[in-house]
Amino acid sequence: MTAVNHADLPPASDAVVAHVEPDAATAPGPTDVSMETIVELCKRRGLVFQGSEIYGGLRGAWDYGPLGVALKDNVKEAWKRAMLQLRGDIVALDAAILMHPRVWEASGHVEGFTDPLVECRNCHQRFRADHLEPGEAGVVVCPSCGGVEFTEPKAFNLMFRTFVGPTEDTSSQVWLRPETAQGMFVDFSHVQLTSRRKVPFGIAQVGKSFRNEITPRNFIFRVREFEQMEMEFFVRPGTDDAWHDYWIAERWNWYVGLGMRPENLRIRDHGADELSHYAKATVDVEYRFPFAWSELEGIANRTDFDLRRHGELSGRDLSYYDQARDERYLPYVIEPAAGVDRSALAFLVDAYRDEQVRAASGRMERRTVLRLHHALAPVKVAVLPLSRNDRLVPTAREVGDLVKPRWMSQYDDAGSIGKRYRRQDEAGTPFCVTVDFQTVESDRGVTVRDRDTMAQERVSIDRLVGYLDERLQLR
Ligand code: ATP
Repeated sequence: MTAVNHADLPPASDAVVAHVEPDAATAPGPTDVSMETIVELCKRRGLVFQGSEIYGGLRGAWDYGPLGVALKDNVKEAWKRAMLQLRGDIVALDAAILMHPRVWEASGHVEGFTDPLVECRNCHQRFRADHLEPGEAGVVVCPSCGGVEFTEPKAFNLMFRTFVGPTEDTSSQVWLRPETAQGMFVDFSHVQLTSRRKVPFGIAQVGKSFRNEITPRNFIFRVREFEQMEMEFFVRPGTDDAWHDYWIAERWNWYVGLGMRPENLRIRDHGADELSHYAKATVDVEYRFPFAWSELEGIANRTDFDLRRHGELSGRDLSYYDQARDERYLPYVIEPAAGVDRSALAFLVDAYRDEQVRAASGRMERRTVLRLHHALAPVKVAVLPLSRNDRLVPTAREVGDLVKPRWMSQYDDAGSIGKRYRRQDEAGTPFCVTVDFQTVESDRGVTVRDRDTMAQERVSIDRLVGYLDERLQLR
């Protein structure tokens, strides 16, 4: 008998993960903030707003403005850091959005990537049947007109279709990818061989996906064009359950490590009736959004389904030769699949606070603050000259130039200093640096204000970069 090599099993984890049953209640209970408030803040501050707004907007399509781009980039960077930089067993991929149409036959999307569509017989609006809930009388009511009669559910394929080249017929038809995962499967052997990886190892990708959702809703939670952060982790069959548990704990730790409050997170196991055709087991990482506990990320054990299907349809052998065991097999796959937009929304909701604080005048005032993890904050440091006085400007610019090469910063000289602090609080900027007359007349010091404690400290310009470096937690 050959000795069993356990080296391909995951390390033990001590994460405290909150599991709930498949049918756990979705009512979120009281939350710190409503969706209306978040949407309004995002619009007012130019974080995220309706796409094509001047033409009346396009449903399910949202645009990210300057602060939103930075927030989204920071979410992606944090994910890539955790997946790629801090580990040695995952490699990156950027596959094309347009893929050979047979990819989606093999994956099961052409046949099965559908939602049940019903139409209200009165107003002819269309809805996802599983999103319509019976009202108090046990009757399903049309959310648009109040009608109670619907057509029978029809399977509606969520993939967007387009054509390559000048002819528009079935031979030139392709799909916009509804998930990034298939790139990792069709490129599996090539990436494994060229990066000389041994199972267990992973391939990670961040990129746009498209789904023709019947009812896009809840702001950037359910949209038609979105970004995913997906990782396919290839393991030896038989070790898959242990790796599944491992990745559930890792992903939980990622959200909590970025400041998400654990009481707003839970892991919901999928019931047998809910499992996708490819999955042996799946859990959803759910967040307590103001509208409901809802999925942030799915973590599935996809078995060897995808590699097997692509092997069958392409005629290529996608199996893996395990040298140490002298065995050839199709690896099983554990897939943590997260949404960038949903994560950004959850981080915003979680960070939002409406606080009563004592102003310099002694009066109590309201402030809105985003207590974002420093790594996620769009702007890390704001440089604020006390006024636009000519004597302050050169030194304030000098301070701005010191900070700029190291961190995303903003130079803001418009309005009263109190207003500017509030503006930065609302954007989640961890530190404000104020240049005043004392700076230029006597001490060459600046006042550094901490977003969370609102404490202010006098720091000499010479020490400023080191001071901020010590306090900014960028990971
Ligand atoms: P849902 O059940 O909410 O439709 P799903 O289970 O179909 O989501 P997956 O296929 O597991 O979603 O996709 C992985 C992740 O991609 C989701 O957890 C989510 O974060 C993100 N995602 C999926 N669909 C959308 C969408 N329409 N808008 C924004 N993000 C999405």
